[in-house]
Amino acid sequence: MKVPRTRAEDAFVRRLVSVFGNDNVRLDDAERFVHSLGKGYLDLIRAWKGTPSSVPDVVVYPSNESQIEQLFAETANWNFVVVPYGGATTVVGGVESRSGDAKVVVCLDFKLMNRVLSVDEKSLLAEVQPGCLGPKLEEALGSLGLTLGHFPQSFEYSSVGGWVATRSAGTESTRYGKIEDMVEGLRLVTPQGTIKTPLVPASATGPDLRQILVGSEGSIGVITSATLKVRKAPRFRSYAGVLFKRFADGIEAVRSMLQSDIVPNVVRLSDPNETRASMALASHDGSSIAERIGTWFLRNRGYFGNDSVVMILAFNGPPEWVDFERRRALVTCKSFGGFSVGSGPGRMWYEERFDLPYLRDKLLGMGVLVDTLETATTWSRLPSLHSQIMGAFTAAFQELQVPGYAMAHISHEYRTGASLYFTFMAKQLAGREEEEWHLIKNKVTNVIVASGASLSHHHGIGIEHAKWMEQYYGPLGIRVLKAIKHALDPKAIMNPEKLLPAE
Ligand SMILES: Cc1cc2nc3c(=O)[nH]c(=O)nc-3n(C[C@H](O)[C@H](O)[C@H](O)COP(=O)(O)OP(=O)(O)OC[C@H]3O[C@@H](n4cnc5c(N)ncnc54)[C@H](O)[C@@H]3O)c2cc1C
Repeated sequence: MKVPRTRAEDAFVRRLVSVFGNDNVRLDDAERFVHSLGKGYLDLIRAWKGTPSSVPDVVVYPSNESQIEQLFAETANWNFVVVPYGGATTVVGGVESRSGDAKVVVCLDFKLMNRVLSVDEKSLLAEVQPGCLGPKLEEALGSLGLTLGHFPQSFEYSSVGGWVATRSAGTESTRYGKIEDMVEGLRLVTPQGTIKTPLVPASATGPDLRQILVGSEGSIGVITSATLKVRKAPRFRSYAGVLFKRFADGIEAVRSMLQSDIVPNVVRLSDPNETRASMALASHDGSSIAERIGTWFLRNRGYFGNDSVVMILAFNGPPEWVDFERRRALVTCKSFGGFSVGSGPGRMWYEERFDLPYLRDKLLGMGVLVDTLETATTWSRLPSLHSQIMGAFTAAFQELQVPGYAMAHISHEYRTGASLYFTFMAKQLAGREEEEWHLIKNKVTNVIVASGASLSHHHGIGIEHAKWMEQYYGPLGIRVLKAIKHALDPKAIMNPEKLLPAE
């Protein structure tokens, strides 16, 4: 583990201790090393090698908003930058300790600000501190028969502040929306003061300030609380699995469902490559006779061909509604040639949904590069974008001369389009891991942005996507975003090099 000496002067550290308390100001190497990393592929490589790209000079644990305001007041006396740190599950370099011009980096970890502050059961609103992780939030809401309904696959380790800061999407976003749809109000402490957005269900008060703060990725201030729209916890859950002979048929079935107001909690349609990989993982010797007979039957009906794909669906709610929606969804699938295979695949995915992403960490230890990337586009552009991205992966593997595999699924569906989520694997080039990853990432992201699809549907921008922001929003759009940053953070102390391209 290579950790450079802290650049924080003793007098600055003494001032931090007077604000945050002795135990909540940490300078030791282990603490600083841990806080230098997120969970992206590059972070894992750096953790593996013990060579982070940059390390915070000091880690502090605020326990209230006033301490953060006092920290910002110190910008008049000291040269430092601030990196907000939630669950550190960012996969785009969101918590990297960049300081541009060699200022001291203060990492603000919200672990101590982790409470559900209040629940308004009448209005179905919960005010939550930024460091509250998914399980703690759902436990508190569950005790009142409520849920937020936001379940990203990083649910166990990611925080409310991180979700709001990155416009996160949960696995049930098709029905419940992304986190930005769940935010009723926010408190944001900026270097220029504190903003509290009004708590109203809707308004006609000019541009939506709240939505400018959501997704700001720590680049203009610190979210110190979010008031979230919660809902009654569903009483019943049902699953379905459907096979299609072609990916195109599955896509049309999903589109038709969403455009007929059939909105399941989860619709996840794998492409042929992901379907083959899932079936290989599922076909272990423990299969029952019934499963084997079923497999034989489907193979003979052409549903296990090279092009066939699997869709899994989940529905939550009152039993009669779930039953009705499930039937409508299956009828739609059938009209596009879908063959229902029962609830098994959906149930299996649901049970493993928080574990699957961490297979990546194990494969890394076996010399395999594994990562994911995602985008979103309209239904009319989705099939061709999928093919173009698969082509870009193939071109990247060829250029690197490594065996590789890419696969995708459609999830997070809307009436107008959907998110495409890719997983890619390649033989790791020992000693050139970062260069290899950048080549693949650049090739694919160039295709995404050139096609007009979203630069990110839910992972956010961080460092890794910042260089494409100008192409994505255009020069005038970027000027607007920079002007907002300048108004709230004129000394540019907030999360340097994230979100916006460098000046
Ligand atoms: C295995 C795995 C699965 C994942 N699955 C999903 C998924 O299903 N859906 C999804 O959307 N994402 C997913 N992600 C990405 C990641 O979990 C999300 O981006 C998540 O919202 C980050 O939350 P966090 O608390 O970990 O934030 P962090 O990683 O700590 O921070 C993310 C960004 O937000 C800023 N930030 C954090 N807290 C605050 C605050 N209080 N105020 C201001 N800025 C702040 C940070 O500075 C950083 O720029 C996954 C990641 C992993 C590793």
